[in-house]
Amino acid sequence: MTAIKRNANVVIATGNAGKVKEFRAILRDSAFSFFMPKDLGFSEEVEETANTFRGNAELKAQAVWEYVSKTHPDYWIVADDSGLEVRALGGSPGVHSARYAGVNASGKDRYTKLLKEMEGKTDRNARFVCCLCLIRQGKVEFFEEESRGSILTEPRGEGGFGYDPVFLPEGYEKGFGEMSEEEKNKLSHRGRAIESMLGKLYSEGFG
Ligand code: IMP
Repeated sequence: MTAIKRNANVVIATGNAGKVKEFRAILRDSAFSFFMPKDLGFSEEVEETANTFRGNAELKAQAVWEYVSKTHPDYWIVADDSGLEVRALGGSPGVHSARYAGVNASGKDRYTKLLKEMEGKTDRNARFVCCLCLIRQGKVEFFEEESRGSILTEPRGEGGFGYDPVFLPEGYEKGFGEMSEEEKNKLSHRGRAIESMLGKLYSEGFG
């Protein structure tokens, strides 16, 4: 087996506290030192103008890479773009998940709007999607995964963030909002995408 190179410095290109918490929890035992873009002086809000998760993940990662590589070209950048696609709504809110109820809306505002749109709908199938964009020395890679499930008729639980209180993962009795962080991370779109990225990194001997 190839020896694992410890201590890769990784910038998590997001300002979303819920996501950062999940990244840290999932990557807790791996050989990363984490930075937020603002730790390195980057506090720009990157506009998500692409119409795919992959496109937006790359926009965020490239913006941070462009800045960080000037002083720390050895640092890795990981950006995530994610969202919820609901079949009965033609895939909405999709890439607009964060802004579904307006720019300053809360997670509760968003899922309340979603529940309203879903009133009377019998097809409640939905999926969370997460696309990670990893940049290492300018080389770009993507890891996209999903978590299938359905939209509950009313919110359940206080855990997680965003649409978690209204999402029931396929094959489970508990919704994302009722699960512990650990339970959710094992089957979530983000947990799976991070695992997939780690699998690739470890198969290469990490770095
Ligand atoms: P973005 O990736 O920053 O564009 O934001 C995606 C949005 O999708 C978040 O602000 C949440 O509203 C929603 N979202 C993404 N992942 C999750 C999740 O794991 N649980 C609940 N909501 C999520």
